[in-house]
Amino acid sequence: MSAHAVTAAVWTADPTRAALARTLWDDGVQAADIARRVGAPSKSAVVGYAHRQRWPPRPSPIGRQTEAKPRVPLRPSRKPPAAPKPVLRPKVAPTPRPPALPPAPLPSGCQYPYGDKPDWRWCHAPVEPGRPYCRVHVAVCYVRRASLVAA
Ligand SMILES: [Zn+2]
Repeated sequence: MSAHAVTAAVWTADPTRAALARTLWDDGVQAADIARRVGAPSKSAVVGYAHRQRWPPRPSPIGRQTEAKPRVPLRPSRKPPAAPKPVLRPKVAPTPRPPALPPAPLPSGCQYPYGDKPDWRWCHAPVEPGRPYCRVHVAVCYVRRASLVAA
């Protein structure tokens, strides 16, 4: 007796596994999946057993291509879901940027900027201890939550 015959005898002799195979067969589960579920040595063992037991034949898998019946995975996939494919956009030449200006040196006083490019300047007033701004601009830049809620 070969190892396959012993294995086949085990799964077909077990009424629970044989009944599970029949249920899966009737549900249209693929023979290879049934074989994995019931411990059959191969999908051919399942198909042969179904034939010997005169289980009703199932429609050809070729004809099932158009059916939209979603397959439920027998066991959760260990592979992470595939990353979405990147959206292909037409390549556009990058717009040339003007050369970056060197950063303006930080002022010795308040760092609050006035004005807009190119005509702007620092506040330069004496700063509050531990802050980069003068008292007026600390009040402008550091808003308490309570005043945000009240506003
Ligand atoms: Zn200031």
